[in-house]
Amino acid sequence: VADVQANGNGTSIIRRKITSLVGFSNLPAQHHRRSVRKGFDFNVMVVGESGLGKSTLVSTLFNMPLAPPRAAPYSSASAPKTVSIQSISSEIEEKGVKLRLTVVDTPGFGDLINNDDAWRPIVSNVEQRFDSFLEGENTYNRSKVTDSRIHACIYFIAPTGHSLKALDVEVMKKLHHRVNLIPVIAKSDIMSDEEITAFKARIRADLEHHKINIFETPRYELDSDKSMEEKTSIMSKIPFAIVGASSEITTPDGRIVRGRKYPWGIVEVDNEDHCDFVKLRAMLVQNFMEELKEYTDEVLYENYRAQKLIAMGVSQDQSVFKEISPSSKMEEERALQNARLQKMEAEMKMVFQQKVAEKEQKLKRSEDELFARHREMKQQLEKERRELESKLAQAELERHAMPEEKNTKKKFSLRS
Ligand code: GDP
Repeated sequence: VADVQANGNGTSIIRRKITSLVGFSNLPAQHHRRSVRKGFDFNVMVVGESGLGKSTLVSTLFNMPLAPPRAAPYSSASAPKTVSIQSISSEIEEKGVKLRLTVVDTPGFGDLINNDDAWRPIVSNVEQRFDSFLEGENTYNRSKVTDSRIHACIYFIAPTGHSLKALDVEVMKKLHHRVNLIPVIAKSDIMSDEEITAFKARIRADLEHHKINIFETPRYELDSDKSMEEKTSIMSKIPFAIVGASSEITTPDGRIVRGRKYPWGIVEVDNEDHCDFVKLRAMLVQNFMEELKEYTDEVLYENYRAQKLIAMGVSQDQSVFKEISPSSKMEEERALQNARLQKMEAEMKMVFQQKVAEKEQKLKRSEDELFARHREMKQQLEKERRELESKLAQAELERHAMPEEKNTKKKFSLRS
């Protein structure tokens, strides 16, 4: 059975149903085996003021303490001068699947006396990671390149109940073209359900007003695992109202849960009626980790690479960025090489022109000197000619006066 379909390139694809087993239906299993053997890399960045529960949330998400406890939030006297970037990597394993997890923290963010440039070290760290991946891709052994690009950035919003702060807006605006932004309301257990609903609506309106892109799940074709309903339900909770707690407590009905205990009751981290932690975990770890990595690779990184190439003077068809084939890679390397050669040629031309201009100036100077000397000599000669002429005229006059003088002498001698 065969049916013919035309694809976008003008060629046609013949779809056939095979009657006997060929074996490639086993490809997903092979892929699964390979992925399990190699393990997975995942790099997540947490941005937010200190004390908002970033370390606690990461430990809660991955069920293990990741970072050593940090000093208490800075006092104004010891306020840091810059935002530093700290990266902690660990290898964790669940049911035989290895995950190399890197958490990038931004201590000092929001704690400075002047937070105007707080976004700079964060954006530059994200871009440096793109740069080192780009460099790695251009090396001989590309398969050995480790992916240190940030796959997701959890942005912690303080539970103020008002709206986004100017600093939040500025930083998210600088970051959203470079990372998958996932905004969360930190320590949401200090707010009532009504306050959270109103705060979420205000944050969503702010994000829309400032045209800040956040990571969205329903970007890809639907498949059986990720039903539209599930994606819509995850998206409807953004920004996720989060509660973090890595320790376990016993509820009055005898259950052991991760949560926070208060005089009025217990807030359970893994209970969807209490907070959105489960939804955040579904987006970040359980269901959409691969999509986060795919979007980072195919859109965020490709856009960065395109901008970089354009800045270097290499133009490329945007549609090419979507599919990365070996030939397009070679093409790109050739374009890079050409750009380098053109740059060298331009530099050589500039040096040559500079040298020619110097020579011309020197020649012009000696020409002027020659002219001046020539003029001087001409004037001198003219002067000498005039002097000679006047001497000649004088001599002429003297010659005419001579005979009279002789006659006078003759007369005088006769008389005597
Ligand atoms: P970081 O500086 O942002 O990494 O914050 P930490 O994770 O070190 O947390 C700072 C303090 O806030 C600690 O005392 C935590 O126990 C507490 N904390 C963390 N998460 C929550 C939360 O969801 N709700 C509340 N009420 N406190 C939290």
